[in-house]
Amino acid sequence: MDNPEVLGEVEVRFIQPYQARKPYACPGCNRDIPAGLGHVVVVPVTAPDLRRHWHRGCWEGRR
Ligand SMILES: [Zn+2]
Repeated sequence: MDNPEVLGEVEVRFIQPYQARKPYACPGCNRDIPAGLGHVVVVPVTAPDLRRHWHRGCWEGRR
């Protein structure tokens, strides 16, 4: 799993369904997050380029 917390503090942003215009790959389960599905974006504070989109359940249930 590609857990961004190894990089230190992270900022979690909630993406509402209407804001989800593109599909993403979730690093928690390696499955797609389809467009139109609410999810979270996890942004490492010190490395914002490494932000990743996660299913909300995958993020909350990460190790
Ligand atoms: Zn997932």
